Amino acid sequence: VSPYEPRTNGSGSSHPQRGLKQRLRAKARKRARKQKRRTGFDRRRGCRFCAEPETPIEYKDPRVLRFFVSETGKIVPRRVSGNCARHQRQIQQAIQRARHLALLPYADSTQ
Ligand SMILES: [Zn+2]
Repeated sequence: VSPYEPRTNGSGSSHPQRGLKQRLRAKARKRARKQKRRTGFDRRRGCRFCAEPETPIEYKDPRVLRFFVSETGKIVPRRVSGNCARHQRQIQQAIQRARHLALLPYADSTQ
């Protein structure tokens, strides 16, 4: 479908009376707003450890592991962290070892 053709389906987002430039600007603004909302957990698709094989997963480095632990001390699930199964397993093992050495909390102290 060519983006320069006015949409003929009855979706509410089409404004046939508006000019092409305005529509493109509105589209860009919408995209910018979408990108701005991306904060907090990194929701990129794909495993960051697969993308960067240099990054080691070690129980001795709680700074890296802390990224995969929630505020309450829970391990962030795979669907949120975006890790692949293999690396999530390595993270899990590393966090459990770090907890045993008191480098990471089992649970948050509040309440
Ligand atoms: Zn991976």
